Amino acid sequence: MVLAQLGGSITRALAKMSNDTVIDEKVFGDCLNDITRALLQADVQFKMVCDLQSNIKRVVNLEALAAGTNKRGIIKQAVFSELCNMLDPGKPSFSPKKGNPCVVMFVGLQGSGKTTTCTKYAYYHQRKGFKPALVCADTFRAGAFDQLKQNATKAKIPFYGSYLESDPVKIAVEGVERFEKENYDLIILDTSGRHKQEAALFEEMRQISEATQPDLVIFVMDSSIGQAAFDQAQAFKQSVSVGAVIVTKMDGHAKGGGALSSVAATKSPVIFTGTGEHIDEFEVFDVKPFVSRLLG
Ligand code: GDP
Repeated sequence: MVLAQLGGSITRALAKMSNDTVIDEKVFGDCLNDITRALLQADVQFKMVCDLQSNIKRVVNLEALAAGTNKRGIIKQAVFSELCNMLDPGKPSFSPKKGNPCVVMFVGLQGSGKTTTCTKYAYYHQRKGFKPALVCADTFRAGAFDQLKQNATKAKIPFYGSYLESDPVKIAVEGVERFEKENYDLIILDTSGRHKQEAALFEEMRQISEATQPDLVIFVMDSSIGQAAFDQAQAFKQSVSVGAVIVTKMDGHAKGGGALSSVAATKSPVIFTGTGEHIDEFEVFDVKPFVSRLLG
């Protein structure tokens, strides 16, 4: 089920109420059950779905509503705002300012789309007038530096890395120092993703973060990881101070629910989504328009 299908299922659950002349507890309960099923099928974490259901029940008190009140409208509004709450952790993430040097560190598993996303993020800001630079602090994967170099060259963004140095912390520190000296205002650190969640990866992320003191740590997540999203996001959050999430491969056949879970796990907002392999297939993420579109 792709996100559009999730939206379709929720919209259908809400529309079903239009066939009922009276909106009573049974109709409301059926509608909530349909919505719950759709969210679970889309891989949204079980606990989040339960919370959403009980929040909607708390907000919509059918008995207390006067006769003639638009109950369908109230239920729809409650579903809309609870979906928004699910995606909105309530605090905005750090946002780079032109001319104020800052360091943004990217973390995520190998294959999540991290290197591609670093370049997209740099390119997006370059077009807004920033002076971005890329640092490859991934010494684990052979070819990581070449990939970053290729992407950076295509986008005409300066880069730093090494074929010889094996200590990612050292490269990260050197890269940041160098670009700070050269007055770059957005220094982007690409890091290793290894193959799976493992202690060594998290320790490496902790060390790089401690040594470079990033202003923002962005967790990059592949939208297709499904129910694993919550635990994966939480594991990264426990080792570094994740402040924002970017969900990649939204153009694919992902169920999409993982995106919602990652927000809950990191208590950080989704700031962009990746919608293709190309450098400009990158969209700013805004909760309300996203949920509106989801619900058609
Ligand atoms: P990393 O190992 O996390 O650095 O991942 P890469 O940046 O190397 O990306 C892994 C693969 O996913 C590459 O083939 C990318 O082109 C692809 N990719 C990254 N982001 C997206 C996206 O938003 N949509 C699609 N369709 N592919 C993506």
